[in-house]
Amino acid sequence: MTPAPAARAVRRELEPTHACIRCGREGVPADAGLCELCNPLELAQPSATQMHGIAALGIIAFVAVLAVASRLAIAGTGPFTGQVLGVTAVADGLAVTMRVSNGGRNAAATVCQVTEAPARPGAAAETVQTPLVPAGQAVEFTAIVTKLGTTLVAVSAACQSP
Ligand SMILES: [Zn+2]
Repeated sequence: MTPAPAARAVRRELEPTHACIRCGREGVPADAGLCELCNPLELAQPSATQMHGIAALGIIAFVAVLAVASRLAIAGTGPFTGQVLGVTAVADGLAVTMRVSNGGRNAAATVCQVTEAPARPGAAAETVQTPLVPAGQAVEFTAIVTKLGTTLVAVSAACQSP
């Protein structure tokens, strides 16, 4: 009966093991959270799987907190209104100067869809990124759009509000 403990030791080494969750001693089997010294009576104890479950719950809670935080960050931005101030033809397209105002309580950037005005079915459109617009203020900027051709046309800008 002497080979039995040796075989058991080998088997233990092949098993995935981890450090004891209380004292950090290596070699605790995956189905136990504590080593033999910390849990000599082999009382019911949280298994490593359960500990991973608790960690996963923590991550889920953290993600939920992030989601709420990002919603709060988005809330209070916009509505954005875009107004085209002028269009000039440039070598590779049209230079559209527009004014974008942010009616919200937080500074934010948005995107505006620049299209021919008046709107025409099937007309080309180009999405332009605005600079950061301070809360309750407006910024004027010029964007070069290349999808509307190089012929001078009247354009309008529709800006997205989150
Ligand atoms: Zn221990």
